[in-house]
Amino acid sequence: MRSLRTKMMMIMVLLILALMTVVGSFLINGVGNYYIEEFYVQMEQTFSQDFIAQLQELAALPADGPAEMKQLLMSQSDLGIDLTRRNVYILDARGQVLDSSNQADSVSVTTNILEAMNGQVGQRGSIASSIMDLAVPIDGGSSRYIVYVLDNKDTVNALTSQLFSIILQSLVLGLVICVVLAFLLSQILITPIRALTAGTRQVAAGEFAQALAVTSRDEIGMLTRNFNHMSQVLQNTISQVENERNKLSTLFLHMTDGVVAFGPTGQVIHHNPAASRMLSRNLTAEDSFDEIFGQEASFSKLLDLKRSEYLEGQKRVGDRELELFMAPFSADKTGGGVMVVIHDVTEQRKSEQTRREFVANVSHELRTPLTNVKSYAETLLDAGDDLPPELKKNFLGVIVSEADRMTRIVKDLLTLTKFDYGKMEMNLTRFPFSKAVENVYQAVALDAKNHRHTLTLTCPDGLPDIHGDRERIEQVIMNIVSNAIKYTADGGQIDITAGTKGDKVFVNVSDNGIGIPEKDLPRLFERFYRVDKARSRESGGTGLGLSIAKEILNQHQGDIQIESVYGEGTSVTITLPAVRDET
Ligand code: ADP
Repeated sequence: MRSLRTKMMMIMVLLILALMTVVGSFLINGVGNYYIEEFYVQMEQTFSQDFIAQLQELAALPADGPAEMKQLLMSQSDLGIDLTRRNVYILDARGQVLDSSNQADSVSVTTNILEAMNGQVGQRGSIASSIMDLAVPIDGGSSRYIVYVLDNKDTVNALTSQLFSIILQSLVLGLVICVVLAFLLSQILITPIRALTAGTRQVAAGEFAQALAVTSRDEIGMLTRNFNHMSQVLQNTISQVENERNKLSTLFLHMTDGVVAFGPTGQVIHHNPAASRMLSRNLTAEDSFDEIFGQEASFSKLLDLKRSEYLEGQKRVGDRELELFMAPFSADKTGGGVMVVIHDVTEQRKSEQTRREFVANVSHELRTPLTNVKSYAETLLDAGDDLPPELKKNFLGVIVSEADRMTRIVKDLLTLTKFDYGKMEMNLTRFPFSKAVENVYQAVALDAKNHRHTLTLTCPDGLPDIHGDRERIEQVIMNIVSNAIKYTADGGQIDITAGTKGDKVFVNVSDNGIGIPEKDLPRLFERFYRVDKARSRESGGTGLGLSIAKEILNQHQGDIQIESVYGEGTSVTITLPAVRDET
């Protein structure tokens, strides 16, 4: 590759060469022609009619005619006879030299001499010829002569060669100036072009920070300005694109839905952590659509879909239920692919199921007492006074107790709903934990005695205070102790133990009652869940006690643990954070 500098130098050199050649040849030609013209003008002036008549007179002399003529001619200063370059010859009619100024005895026959031989004046000259000559026929009556003036063009040649050498010198000087100028000029051009080249390289490498200095107002200056503008626009565009990409990749990374993109051949090209989590597998570029979703949809069918169309599918992975939305992401089959959005609906399905069960449970729980109330009331209505007063009283007792049960259920449900919607108002105070435990103990003592249970309370002095809604905390402890009384055969042993554990207080209620089968333990806190429905109902339970207890403890950052051996007894422990006294 030739550099701009070399090219410029070559152009300048060629230019100067062409210029000098043209000027030189015009000059040399001009000078040559000028001399030839001068020669013939001189000749014309000399060879006037009178002068030719004189020559003719001399030519007519019987003897020494040629010598006389030569003398006359040489005496003509206008003729400029100079023996070294311009000579005069007297020729006879055949072109033989009879006499000459330089004593030469022959001349070469030229076209002009031939003209003169034919009786015409030979006065043709040309720049190409190496001589200038004139042949004038002189008729001396009996004898005919030719006066021949020959100039060997030495003066012209000397001048031409001098001119040539001047032109050569100026050519060399011109060339040197040219080279220096070309160098300097190219420097002016090349410096900003080099800066532009470096700038483009920087831009290509992604560095936009530095704007190039604009040093001139010419086309290169304009180009530099435009380049700066272009790189600014490019930088803005790239940073906008980058921001968009970052936004999307952040969204992609943190979105809860899983996204997997497949390339045109069905290989995984992109996926987010949620997708790996939901599919319970580490996705790599080795995995294919058919391998992962082959059962749910066909890849080629998806590729054939229009951009706005999509397919839905369901997939089960372990105990997860996944909903799939599959769509092609480009109309072009070669560059596009398929995007699968995975929505984990496990929780949604579970909560739908729980809600359905809950509604069924509520209806069932309320229908049983309602049926009882209705049938007893109808019997009373129908039988009227026929019923013995004892039975009547008994029936009315059942109606009242069933109504009470419904009230309890509705009350408990209302409490739970309030917790669900965060509407439960808490009356928070600081109170001694031991007092709450003792209160419950006092309240149930009689009930325990009625069932012939041995109820003990172990509560060490100096238990720390707790902070919370006293009434609700006592409701929780009461529920647990009541359960122990309810689910223990009469004459059982029930121990209430309070104490501290780290920065927490706890109360444990142990009984040697019927116990709970292991499989039921995890479900005890579900609403309306009861191990033995009949027994629970019989003893006035709603199946909501433990659910409410759990909610109340959650509100107090507390905890509840149930351990039980079926047939041997149950141990329930609740823990609550103690208030720390600043010392
Ligand atoms: P319920 O109103 O039926 O007592 P809970 O929510 O208080 O409802 O208790 C749920 C179920 O847990 C009870 O129906 C019972 O089967 C079981 N349960 C609770 N405490 C005990 C216990 N101390 N011993 C045996 N079973 C218990």
